Order: sequence, then C-alpha cells, then structure tokens
Amino acid sequence: MTNNLTQAPKLDSSLQRRLALEIQGATHFDPFSLGRYATDASVYQMMPLGVIVPQNLEDVRKSFAIARDAGVPVLPRGGGTSQCGQTVNNALVIDTSRHLNKLLELDVENRRCVVEPGIVLDHLNAALKPHGLWFPVDVSTSSRATIGGMTGNNSCGSRSIRYGTMRDNVDAIDALLADGTPLHFGPVAPDLATANKASPEHDLFRDLLALGAREAEEIRQRFPDVARRVGGYNIDALVPANGIPGNGAALNGETAGGNNLSHLLVGSEGTLAYSTRIELRLSPLPQTKVLGVCHFASFYEAMDATQHLVSLDPAFVELVDRTMIDLARDVAMYRPTIEGVVRGNPEALLLVEFAGDDQNENLRRLKELGERMGDLGFAWNEDGKHWGGVVEITNPSEQSALMEVRKAGLNIMMSMKSEGKPISFVEDCAVRLTDLAEYTARLTAIFDKHGTRGTWYAHASVGCLHVRPVLNLKLDEDLRKMRAIAEEAFDMVAEYKGSHSGEHGDGIVRSEHHERMFGTRMIRSFEEVKDRLDPEGLLNPGKIVRAPKMDERALLRYGADYKEADFRSLLDWSAYPGAAGGFQGAVEMCNNNGACRKLDAGVMCPSYRVTKDERDSVRGRANSLRLALSGQLGPDALTSDDMIETLKLCVACKGCKRECPTGVDMSKMKTEVLAARIGKQGLGLHDRLVAYLPRYASYASKAPWLPNLRDRIPGLAKVMEGVTGFSAKRKLPKWRSDSFDERAAGMTGEAAPEPDKREVVLLADTFNRYFEPENLHAALAVLSAGGYKVLFAQAADSKRPLCCGRTFLSVGLIKEAEIEAERVIDALLPFVERGVPIVGLEPSCLLTLRDEYGALFPGDSIRQGQVAKIASQAVLLEEFLSREMESGDLNLDLKPVAEKAFLHGHCHQKAFAALTPVQRVLGLIPDLKVETIESSCCGMAGAFGYGTETYDTSLQMAELSLLPKVREAAPDDLVIADGTSCRHQIADGSQRKAQHVAQILKSALR
Ligand SMILES: Cc1cc2nc3c(=O)[nH]c(=O)nc-3n(C[C@H](O)[C@H](O)[C@H](O)COP(=O)(O)OP(=O)(O)OC[C@H]3O[C@@H](n4cnc5c(N)ncnc54)[C@H](O)[C@@H]3O)c2cc1C
Ligand code: SF4
Ligand code: SF4
Repeated sequence: MTNNLTQAPKLDSSLQRRLALEIQGATHFDPFSLGRYATDASVYQMMPLGVIVPQNLEDVRKSFAIARDAGVPVLPRGGGTSQCGQTVNNALVIDTSRHLNKLLELDVENRRCVVEPGIVLDHLNAALKPHGLWFPVDVSTSSRATIGGMTGNNSCGSRSIRYGTMRDNVDAIDALLADGTPLHFGPVAPDLATANKASPEHDLFRDLLALGAREAEEIRQRFPDVARRVGGYNIDALVPANGIPGNGAALNGETAGGNNLSHLLVGSEGTLAYSTRIELRLSPLPQTKVLGVCHFASFYEAMDATQHLVSLDPAFVELVDRTMIDLARDVAMYRPTIEGVVRGNPEALLLVEFAGDDQNENLRRLKELGERMGDLGFAWNEDGKHWGGVVEITNPSEQSALMEVRKAGLNIMMSMKSEGKPISFVEDCAVRLTDLAEYTARLTAIFDKHGTRGTWYAHASVGCLHVRPVLNLKLDEDLRKMRAIAEEAFDMVAEYKGSHSGEHGDGIVRSEHHERMFGTRMIRSFEEVKDRLDPEGLLNPGKIVRAPKMDERALLRYGADYKEADFRSLLDWSAYPGAAGGFQGAVEMCNNNGACRKLDAGVMCPSYRVTKDERDSVRGRANSLRLALSGQLGPDALTSDDMIETLKLCVACKGCKRECPTGVDMSKMKTEVLAARIGKQGLGLHDRLVAYLPRYASYASKAPWLPNLRDRIPGLAKVMEGVTGFSAKRKLPKWRSDSFDERAAGMTGEAAPEPDKREVVLLADTFNRYFEPENLHAALAVLSAGGYKVLFAQAADSKRPLCCGRTFLSVGLIKEAEIEAERVIDALLPFVERGVPIVGLEPSCLLTLRDEYGALFPGDSIRQGQVAKIASQAVLLEEFLSREMESGDLNLDLKPVAEKAFLHGHCHQKAFAALTPVQRVLGLIPDLKVETIESSCCGMAGAFGYGTETYDTSLQMAELSLLPKVREAAPDDLVIADGTSCRHQIADGSQRKAQHVAQILKSALR
C-alpha cells in the first residue's frame, strides 16, 4: 500500500482499455484524476488504481466483473467526506455521486422511499419536504454526504437520540457482492422460511445467522452498551431475536422474531458489498421547534448536567465550548448570532431542542428545562447557586443561525492557519452519560500530558463528543503522539465500556484498535463475516478487519517523501506557514470536507454546480495543487496542461474565499499558477487582448467603429474566433465614442474644496468608462443630489485613466497588475489621507483594492501600509450610501420607479457581504419590492463567458438559476445587476436589460 502516485501500483494498460471500452460512464487513469480521488476528509492518502464514474448500474456490474477477473480491489465512493480513511485505497474507485443519485420510489403513506446510493441527503430531503416528510439522520455534511456513504458509515445526526443512526432508518439494501451476485438484504425469518432454498442468499444468510447464534453471548458481553457504536461489523444484527441495547436495535427492534440483514451492511464501509438500492424509513417533518441555550460557568458542570437534561426527552443536546464560542465570535458571519444569544462568558453551552407538531408542548418543555436547571442549582447571579441558566430561542431563524454556528464548529477550528491542525482520530468516542464528565476531564488530561489541546463540541445527548487534538503530522514526534493519545484514550474508553467509534467509523484510523474494544474472538468473527461475503478480499481491503497501523507514514497525506514546494510565489501568502512563501500552506488548508460540492444556497462553486465533476470542485483543484506542489504529479506539474485544464472552469468568483470553511481562495491560487505558466510558456493572443484592454482602450474609443466591425460585419466574428479565442456566439462589449471623461466634466482632484460639501472620489473603472459611461454619470448625479462633492483621481503621469489592474490579474500578469496598482495607490493616497472615501461602481474592480492589492507587493511594508489605508476607505456606491444612511447623513429625495425589481448580486459583492447594502439602498425607493435572486456566479466572469472553450459552461452557469428567474420578470419589472459582466450575460441569455443600482437611483431622483 502506498500514498504516493509515483510509487503506486498501476493498472495494466489492457485493463484500462477494457474498462474504457465497456463502461458507458467516464473512466480515469491519468495522474491528476487519480490524485483527486486519493484523499477523503481524513489524514490519509492512497492512490487509486483507476476511477470509474458509472453512468448506470450496468457500469457498476461491469466494473465489478472486470476488477474481479483481474483480481483488482474495488472502493465504492459517495461524497468522499469520511474522516477515518475508509474512502481511500489502492483500488478501482467507483464514484456513485455523479449519476447514481435518483429517488427511485416514494411511498408517502407508509413513509418509505428507495434511493440510489449517490443521492445527497439535502437533495433527498428537498424532495421529501413537500410531503411533510424527511430522512432524519441529519449529518453535518448533509449538503454533500450521499445515502450510500451514510449507509456505509452508519452515519449519525445530531438528533440521533430521537431518530437513531442510519441502521435504525435503513430497512433494506439491494447489493452487489464481490463475485457480482446481486442480493436483497432485508428482514428474514429466523429459520429463513421465506427464503428460496435454491437461491444464492439462502446459504449465505443461513451461515450468517448461524454465526450470530453462535456468538450471541460474546456479542452480549463485548458490544458496548452506549447510544452510539458504529465500529466493527454489526454482527449483533445476526443474533436471533436481537436486543443488544444501545446499538440501534433497542430503538427499532429487529424484525419481530427475525433479523434485518441489511443492518449487517450498514456501517460496513464498502468492505462487504456494493449497495445499489437503499430502502429508507422516513419520518414526519416536525412542524415546530424551540431551543433552550443552557449556560454553564464550567465545562465539567455542563457535562455533569447532560444526563439530567436528556431525561426531558429533547430532540438533541449539543455542546458548544468556550473556545468555539470565542472562535465563532471572531468570524464576521457568526458574530451577530453569538452576541445575540450568549449571556456573559460561559465556559460551555448546551443547546437543547424540543421539536414536534404542538408548539405549546415544546414551550412547556422549554419551561421545564429552565426549572430543571434551577433544580440542578443553576441561576444567573444568585448567591449560593452555580452561575448559569437558560436563554430561550423560539424564533426559527435564530434557531437555525445558532445551529449553523454549531455545525460550522469543526470548520471554524480547521481554519487554523498554523502547521499544527486539529486532527481527527479520537474525536467521536462515545461513553455513557453518567461517565461523560469524568471521561472528558481524563481525556483533556491526556492531551495536556502530550502537550496538546482540543476543543470539545457536538452530541452531548448521546455521550459522543467531538474533540480534535492539535498536531502537526508532518513531524514524526507528533505522529508518535497521535498513537500514544489514541492508545491511552481507547483504553480509557474500553474501561468505561464505551465505544471508540461513535460516529465516524473505522477506516484506517480505528480498525487497528478494535481488539481493545471487542476482544480477539470478536475480531475473528468479523473476519469470518468478511471472508464469507468477500472471500478474495476485493472490496475496500484493509478496513475494519486486517487493517494497517493507524500511523503508517506510507499511508498519510504527508508521507515520508512529501516535499516542500520548490516554487517562488509572486503573491503574498505570508499569513500561511510552509514553503513557496506560504503558498503551499494555503493549499494544504483544504481538508477535503467537501463543502464545495454543495448545490444549494451560496456561490461556491459555480463550475462544480454545472459539471458535477470532482475536477471542477474547489477540493479537486486544491488537491491537484497540493500534489503538484509536493512533487507527486511529476516535474512541472504546476504549470502543465493538466493543471490548466483543472483550473480552466474556475471563474475566480471568490465564492470559496468566503464559503469554504477553511477559506481556500482558489481565485488567488489560480492567478499564481497562471503567472507561473506565463513564465514558462508566454501569453497567448486571447489573454493578451483581455489583459491589456485598459492600455489600448483609450485608442479604441477614439475610433470605436473599427473594433466594433467584428460584430457588424456578418461572419467576421467567426473568422476571428480561431485567432482571438473569442466565441463568435457572443457579441463583444460595444466601444463608445462618448466614453466617460472626467476632465471634460472638470472634476479632477485639483478642484477647489467647497467647505459645506462632503467630498468623495468616484473611481471611474475601465468598463463603465468605455462601455457604459451612463452609469458613471448616474452615480455622479446621485452623489451630487445627495450633497456630495464628487472628485476624480488621476494618475501622476496623466497619460491614461486609472485602472485597478484586474484584467492583468485574471490572466496571471502579476507584475503588470502591480504597475496598475501603484498608479492607483499613488493617485488615491492623498485623498485617503485626508479622509475622502473612494467610491466605485464595478464590484470586481473596486473590491480588487480591498482584496488582491493586499496580496501584491509581498515584503514591501511601505506599499502594504498604503494598501491597507486605501482598502479601509474603498467602498462600492451602495456601501457608501448605506453607511451614510445609517449615520443619518444621506439626503436623497426619491420617487417611485417601479413596483418590483429582481436583484442579482455580483459574486464579489456576495464574497464581501456587499449585497445587503444594495438591498438597503433600494429600500429607499418608495413602493419598490425587491426580490434578490438566489444565484451563484452569472457565468460571465470577466472574459470567461467570451472564450470559445468556456462559452457553453458560462451559459450553463447562468441557466442554473439566474436566467430562469430573470425570465419570470414582467416587462415593467426592473432587473438590477451591478456587475458589467452580469448585465451582459443577462442581456445575452434573456434579452432583458439589467441596470446598475446607480441608474435606478438616478431615475428615482425627484
Ligand atoms: C466536517 C465534517 C462533518 C461531519 N459530520 C458528520 C456527522 O454529523 N455525522 C456523521 O455521521 N458523520 C459526519 N461526518 C463524516 C461523513 O461526512 C459522513 O460519514 C458521511 O455520511 C459520509 O458520506 P459520503 O457520501 O461522503 O461517504 P464516503 O466517504 O464517500 O463513503 C463512506 C463509506 O461508505 C462506502 N460507500 C459509499 N458508497 C457505497 C455504496 N454504494 N456501497 C457500499 N459502500 C459504499 C465507502 O466505501 C466508504 O467506506 C463528517 C465529516 C466531516 C468532514
Ligand atoms: S476546498 Fe474548502 S470546502 Fe472544499 S473540500 Fe477543501 S476545505 Fe472543504
Ligand atoms: S473562485 Fe469560484 S469558481 Fe473558482 S474555485 Fe472558487 S468557488 Fe469555484
């Protein structure tokens, strides 16, 4: 087994050909693709032998048959979000998430459904919601975890105290055995009376049940009696008339007098069979909920109180500790929630939810919770009492906001930029509630002993708390600590008769330790089960049984030969540790949690939303970069065609910068890679035309008819397509002879100050200046009407107008961008130093001053200081007006202009939380109802939408939600978009004219 692509075993080329020929779906054997499937959300890395993305079930069957013929192992994969290494192997990976993701049957009356394994939990629940149902195993990764993967891991949600784990909610599984036999695993009578004696399952099921009968006593003795146990095989499901408490059976009851054999597959991590159809038990969606936030002055008190709160029958009790509260307070997105809910400075919070159809009953229980806390001796500031009490939250949006903070817990921690990271290996042990306080104290002491620490959070109600000690697994010393902590922790858990795996499964990190918990005899039984179902050991070998050592460096993401990047970065990455000026550390921030595979609200990641290809997710890109930087994809991989292909559909929307839980900023990384590529291969004509636009724009605008000929002479665009790389399907922005000229307007910085007026500098960007000057005129009119004196800044050389340099950054010409930035900084600094705000219209240009400028000039503290000053004063028009509004300084007399407006936010506006100000400012217009379109990137993204190779994807991005919504607009409705590109895309895709907010405000001036 190996983690390095260069040493990994390769699949025979004839086998690759056979797979490619016989499989309808995609097959991948190239190093970049293999590398993208070599990791899950654990610390491990194992190179696959090949990747199959089956189009249908037949593809899976064929892959199995071909792999079996060749004796090649197979690894099923869903979202790849496992934390223990169960979704990595030197095997043929079968990615079910892309195509095998349908809801096959829904029986509302009996609350049952049948799904394909690749369906994502949130997508399933969206389909169930209209029927008042849901699938209640609410894992934190619900936006990308698949039912196949959840079944494979026996996943558990925060409400497992009420709904149980996957095992309690899966009724049957159709599966493919390693030898290709399709079998139905479901309820069976004890004597197999209903099974056909001649059927293949008969003998198998008979043997399995015999094992259950034989081992019944051992299982009763050794299986931990806790609410959460997901380690090992569920052979307790084979015990006749099963009733092992604490393993789901108690909740559900096995089939009366029989067994449900699908439960053996639940939690088997792809090692026993491949699930093809999964039958699920559904629950009514609770109509109402309330949340009690119990405050404690000490962590121990919170842990001790849990057992007493659980007896009130809540839907969950979730822990948030002091460190997490403090970290959340530091995140702008979460700060208001924390400030609004948390009283004083508690060491721990327990979030207690009561849910059901009767809100009065929920409220009654909430009151009872307060009383219970009182009975336990907690009161706010009363002598003789422990400090603490309950903050009641009945408002659903406040409840969701707080739960978001709790769910983001791990991610908030993972955003730690140091080399040491919170490592997942003892993070989900489960003990009885009566032992919880003592267990957490002892484990904290173990961390202390090894010189590390951990933050505690999550599922207090079931005695399964998450905690990740901070370690740097690149260091042998920390790897040794990992083993020592694991051994001491798991011994202690065994002492409590708890489970060392209460949620995340076994994989590589836990399987080796099973003997501690289950004993040798049970391990032999597990092996017997594995051998009976997969005698040749072809299904995800080395997991659950016959596992490697957890600390085998050859299996770690940071293997023995993990190299420091030999690369000189041009941008400033100094906030991160590691080589290439911190670039390598920034890339390593991706922990594979897969949040970038979500398809619902937000921006991230438009290209993945269109293609659903792992390559086009932020994770896929970050993994390729990590492997390339560390030399695992061969020489020059960073600047190779494969890397360019990997980054091609990244539209630099900055969605990941804001929404990736660890802040992976792929837009900036792409610029760095493009710069390195230019260093090797130079720049093509297309990119040259895009980048240098600000430098030739003033000439083009003097004779606009000439460049405009391309779209006037029929066929010319087509002729030029091959040379310029601009798609003939798209018209280019039209050059204007009336481009904006501030000098003509007499409004440059030299104008005499007018003491009674407040000054602002209006930054005339290249796009509005040359293609839509009316927007600048509109902004001028609005600001003037508001009583502001509008100034324009000029470059010292006065040769040509200022430009932020974004076009250069978009192709990787970092040095040229720096030249533009220096002109801008030098021109704006005098204004900024006398406190004049810089106001811009085009989000991508103005926000470049606040974002990318901070990464230019690495090591130049003078420039960096100037950039910081400018960034602090640079605002979009709507941000400026909104700020003035809030301080009561805005005087705009506006009249009604329309009844309804559809607002599309530019993705950079969203990345910088600058969309709310647009909504606020539009709220000044009387009678205007604004609907904000729930959209990702419009797809135009600068020059992306014009490229011959990217035109189709660009339109597909727009069709995801933006264009369909714009088409709903009535003729009199307004369509508002502040981005030049967005307006162009809307016009091309829907023939609707979208306007900048400045235009709307101008038309509303009385
Ligand atoms: C930030 C974060 C938070 C998490 N929170 C939770 C949580 O709240 N609760 C929880 O339980 N887990 C949690 N997890 C772990 C993980 O997300 C869940 O276990 C999830 O259900 C895995 O789904 P997946 O689609 O990513 O599975 P994968 O990782 O793709 O697969 C999981 C296992 O199932 C097997 N498998 C996949 N498809 C099939 C198939 N068709 N047939 C047979 N075997 C198959 C795989 O081989 C693998 O062994 C979290 C992980 C992260 C990174
Ligand atoms: S890029 Fe961010 S969101 Fe995507 S897997 Fe990596 S850390 Fe998670
Ligand atoms: S910048 Fe946008 S398109 Fe590029 S990886 Fe991030 S979210 Fe995806």
